[in-house]
Amino acid sequence: MAAEIRLFTCLSDNFGYLVHDPDTGATASIDAPEAAPIINALDEEGWRLTDILVTHHHHDHVGGIAELKQKYGCRVTGPHDKSTRIANVDLRVAHGDVVKVGSLLARVLETPGHTLDHISYVFDTDKALFAADTLFSIGCGRVFEGNYPMMWDSLLKLRALPDDFRLYCGHEYTASNVKFALQIEPDNAALKARAEEVARLRAASEPTIPSLLGEEKKANVFLRADDPDVASRLHMKGAGAAEVFGELRERKNKS
Ligand code: ZN
Ligand code: FE
Repeated sequence: MAAEIRLFTCLSDNFGYLVHDPDTGATASIDAPEAAPIINALDEEGWRLTDILVTHHHHDHVGGIAELKQKYGCRVTGPHDKSTRIANVDLRVAHGDVVKVGSLLARVLETPGHTLDHISYVFDTDKALFAADTLFSIGCGRVFEGNYPMMWDSLLKLRALPDDFRLYCGHEYTASNVKFALQIEPDNAALKARAEEVARLRAASEPTIPSLLGEEKKANVFLRADDPDVASRLHMKGAGAAEVFGELRERKNKS
């Protein structure tokens, strides 16, 4: 049976996610920004937490782990990277590893750049990508620990996934990302359509996530740093993709 996915807000703008396997009753939380909203979401469904799949060491993704592990005795899966400082991890995973959540399978992609330890989880059968702070809708994470070529390479790994996969990212940053992206590409039709959709959703206090990866490939300028049109918008004709990506990221940092 298909996985059931629940999405809710944690902290100020983080997303909490539960992925539930109806066949076995197993339930995973993707990251654990804080315990209370995750416990509430579990109680609402009558689900019991069996797993936490951690993407990276930032506090707004790991802050709830200790309390949840204490309460449920769940298994915590986290990145293998030696740079990581995450406590309470039971299982360390690297690129290509597959994590079981009951009968559901989550494939691990190493997507460093935002942090060196950042990993993303792909549920291929359910066409769901949990990309945390690597890829946002119409944006991407800040490059704190890695460098631009590394982050661009990580984005290419995510872009390689099929168009009908859904993106579940770490933060509700879409409206601000759209505002910036429109400055770079005011005539991008897919972006303009997404801007309208985002305005409508935000006005109704609804999340802008998930989004379709195929739409992100057309509308998200950070996934198109190798598109000659984007390079020329930045007056960088002939520059390499990682360089164009770096320029985009720096402009966004200053925006
Ligand atoms: Zn982060
Ligand atoms: Fe974050």
